[in-house]
Formats: sequence, C-alpha cells, structure tokens
Amino acid sequence: MRLTILGCAGSVPGPGTNASGYLLEADDFTLALDLGNGTVSALQQLRDPFDLDALLLSHLHPDHCADFAALTVIRRYHPERPGADRRLPVYGPAGTEQRLVNLYAPNERERAETDLTDSYSFAPLPSEPTMIGPFEVQAIEVCHPTPAYGVRISYDGTTFAYTGDTGVCPSLERLAAGVDVLLAEATWTDADDRPPGIHLSGAEAGQLAERAGVGKLLITHIAPWTDPAAIHAEVKAAYTGPSEIVVQGASYELAQRR
Ligand SMILES: [Zn+2]
Ligand SMILES: [Zn+2]
Repeated sequence: MRLTILGCAGSVPGPGTNASGYLLEADDFTLALDLGNGTVSALQQLRDPFDLDALLLSHLHPDHCADFAALTVIRRYHPERPGADRRLPVYGPAGTEQRLVNLYAPNERERAETDLTDSYSFAPLPSEPTMIGPFEVQAIEVCHPTPAYGVRISYDGTTFAYTGDTGVCPSLERLAAGVDVLLAEATWTDADDRPPGIHLSGAEAGQLAERAGVGKLLITHIAPWTDPAAIHAEVKAAYTGPSEIVVQGASYELAQRR
C-alpha cells in the first residue's frame, strides 16, 4: 500500500503547496482521498488523471473538494476521456452529490445539462468495513464544524488511518487504535485559546498517536502561516514513535510495524 501526497497545506493552499489530497494505491487500484485546491495539477504531474479508480471525500470544505470541479472538466471534455461505462465512484458525506453538482455547474441551465451521473456514481461513506477495490474501508465520524469523517483502511495485513479535519473527540481513539500508520492533521500549534471541535494541534496529534499505539505518525494539514518545525517539536514531545511532516509529491510505503 503506497501513499502519495498531492497536497498537504492546511485550510487553504499555501505558496507553492496545494490543499489536501492523497493517493492510496495497491494492486493497480488508485483511491484518491480528498481533492482540495490545486491537487488536480499535482495529479496530472504524477499520474494519468483517468487512473483514479475511486474518490473518497472526508468532508465538503473547499480545501478538501474544490478540485472536484477541475477533475470533472477533464472527465467530461478531455479528448481521450473514458466512456460513460467508466464512471468514477465517489464516496462522501450526506449532501455530497448536490454540493459537487453546484460546485461544477453554478446555474440552472448548466445543471439541466448535466447532473454529473455521466461521469460519476455517488455513494455514501461506508460506516461498516467495506471493500473498495483491494482496500477494506471504514469511515468514522469525527468532530468539525461540518459533517466530517476519518477513514480506516486495511490492505494485506497493514492498517492505515486518516483523520481528515477534526478536533479532539472520542471517535478519534477508535479511528487510530493500533494502526500501522496514522496520517493526522495538525493545523495549529497548541494554545489554551484554540477553539474546540475544529482542528488538532501538533501536541494533540502526538498524544492521540501515543495513546492509540500507532506504528508511525505522518503529519499533514499544517496551515501556511504555521511553522512546521514548531508542530513537529510538539509531536515529538508527545509521541515516542517515528513521525514525519509530509511534503507534497512525496510517496510513502505503508508497511506493518516491525
Ligand atoms: Zn481542511
Ligand atoms: Zn475542514
């Protein structure tokens, strides 16, 4: 199972860095996790955009789904676009289909022309472990101002979890419990005046990984105005395992802990 970073800037794209988007690949199957601002540019640099086999959206904030509109233009107008028999499965929270149709087609006339079912098949996020290609995927609701989910994904004995955007909440413990690799957001540094229920600090991400006994911690979604070194120092003070701040374009082989 291989993780590739299409973008990792927190909340907005940064200078030279896209917002959130990831590829998870195994057995020639490519699952995209989130598709924030700029990620379709990175996707085209790294892969054929038609290589995607499924798309999963953690939540519907623009920094996690804005480039769905760009992907749609490619899938509907590229001269070598796939036929209607190769619709891309899209998994997302309640309201995903309408949100994405409106994002792509801003007025009634355009929406009358397409409801996007020529290009996509929409499905709810799996609340129970469900096979998507070779991956066993379970979405777990987390805590954010809009309905938001983390995902726990297993392949060939290795388990990976992605927090999406979340504040500290009990369901994070279930999401992260014992995973080999946790991709956790850490948007801001730790401070008493951070509003609850929105994002994790570096310290909170590190404490979660320590409590949950994760094998390796990858940190993402650092806001462009926050110092990554300060986040990493908080993580390392709280978590005794290996940790890394992810960078755009990098790939990580996800393996079982030794
Ligand atoms: Zn975000
Ligand atoms: Zn968000």
